[in-house]
Amino acid sequence: MSLLSVRNLHKTYGSGARALPAVRGVSLDVAAGETLALVGESGCGKSSTARIVVGLAQPTSGSVSLAGEDLHARVHDREVRRRAQMVFQHPDQSLNPHFTVARTVAEPARLLVGGRDIEDRVVEALRTVGLGPEYRARRPRELSGGQQQRVAIARALICDPELVVLDEPTASLDQSVRSRVVALLERVQQERQVGYLFISHDLTTVRRIAHRVAVMYLGRIVEVAPTEELFENPQHPYTRALLAAAPVPDPRRRKRVVPLRGETPSASDLPTGCSFQSRCPLVHDRCRTTQPQLEPLAPDHAAECFAVASRPEHLGVVGSDGRP
Ligand code: SF4
Repeated sequence: MSLLSVRNLHKTYGSGARALPAVRGVSLDVAAGETLALVGESGCGKSSTARIVVGLAQPTSGSVSLAGEDLHARVHDREVRRRAQMVFQHPDQSLNPHFTVARTVAEPARLLVGGRDIEDRVVEALRTVGLGPEYRARRPRELSGGQQQRVAIARALICDPELVVLDEPTASLDQSVRSRVVALLERVQQERQVGYLFISHDLTTVRRIAHRVAVMYLGRIVEVAPTEELFENPQHPYTRALLAAAPVPDPRRRKRVVPLRGETPSASDLPTGCSFQSRCPLVHDRCRTTQPQLEPLAPDHAAECFAVASRPEHLGVVGSDGRP
């Protein structure tokens, strides 16, 4: 059984002519000890999905279950809330500047766990993220960006969650600090078998930390695959364009991709059929009338594209040797 199971999730903000569908039929699973990365452009629905998964926002429809428990039916149940925690983007904004580190880290434990050992829990949570007890009395302004993010991770870990949703956890960190925070997350996962839903624009970090990657475009998952499979053999035209725009260590391995055209449509005025049609170099008549669905292409690899499902060689992609 999956640790996290999301099924046909929809989230629409507003209503009527002002309705803005942010999440449109997302289904995903995360196993214990697994990292699933969610990637895609800003506004594609990643953060809305994340907030729903930890119970900070209600879905319009669909279900989220954690180890078989319906999260939204029991959103006020402290034990269910304890099991899924979140690390927010920009720790300098998510940490209360007036709270000491001890108070910040202790807060979820006081709310969701209780008991008399909270001070011990704080020390243990700080130790887990590599901070000594001397940090308890400090405030966020007295910490570096990396230390702030470690405090944010300690705050998420103090309740001993089974799932942690990480929303751009390394976005504000420089390269060396980012690498240390990723190493910390990997170690915690190995020690505790915690599942991560890892949201990021940073494809280099995604490739390092994720076991599988799901690519979102305008509220839908358009491709999902094991990480190396996705990076080495992307199928959906949007995934190919996204990866082609990212830096690669060896430019000779960069794949040539038919460039995207057109503009991203407004989420409040989506076309009939495939949402990617206005930018897709492979668009054909069926794409303008029918919404494609995620179709399996290989074990654990699925994509939402008529062209991929029928004729993958027609994606117009060749390697550096000129062959498809
Ligand atoms: S379904 Fe059609 S428009 Fe959509 S990505 Fe595939 S080829 Fe392009």
